[in-house]
Amino acid sequence: SNTGSEPAAANYDLVSDGKLIMGTNAQFPPFEFYENQTIVGVDAEIMGEIAKRLGLELEIKDMEFDSLPASIKAKEIDVIGAGYTADPDREENMDFTDSYYTANQTIIVRADSTAASADDLKGKIIGGQSGTTGLITCAVELTDEANIKAYTNGALAVEDLLNGKLDAVIIDNNPANEYKNIHNIRGEKIKLLENQFDEEHYVFGVQKGNKALADAINSTLAEMKEDGSFQTIIDKYIK
Ligand code: GLN
Repeated sequence: SNTGSEPAAANYDLVSDGKLIMGTNAQFPPFEFYENQTIVGVDAEIMGEIAKRLGLELEIKDMEFDSLPASIKAKEIDVIGAGYTADPDREENMDFTDSYYTANQTIIVRADSTAASADDLKGKIIGGQSGTTGLITCAVELTDEANIKAYTNGALAVEDLLNGKLDAVIIDNNPANEYKNIHNIRGEKIKLLENQFDEEHYVFGVQKGNKALADAINSTLAEMKEDGSFQTIIDKYIK
């Protein structure tokens, strides 16, 4: 049994003894976002439970999404938990855990747009969050670099879509649905073009060579899937 009360002697490296430090960008609902002053969401809760079962205290560092690879490389954080897609180029700076979620990049357009598929956005002005797969792997297939606008978070890109400065935003399906709900409640209509790109697999990133930490996270994730606590967290945040 694993009650978290007597964790096995740890054989992995940590930035700070007794702590698991997770880097994220907390502008990515429902995976990470602020509720009052606290960062909550799927990643925060999954990693909180993993830390607890490993006998560690979770600390979350909120930073620019773009800074996450350099931060893990510089050993400032133990793990990246950021709805982070397993993109092979990223493995230059880190190792990945097993995947825990499957996502799909989604196109957001204004409700009155005539665009019905990704092909209709060829050569158009496309925005998204800087450094994300929505821009670095999807938008680049459709338009020139000069037509790709990078924002510090997805919400700002959606604002510029509504202002008419962008033709489309490309972002992961779960935040896309959150933005659609928020804006449609305000009467600012947007619509989604879904399943236009290949599936993506969310992973946690660990420091390169810290296989022992990746193994500990993987086995704890497997336990959480087995005992239902993983699904409970997903169901709490994803309707
Ligand atoms: N899944 C996307 C990526 O890894 C976006 C993640 C995010 O914006 N937090 O690039």
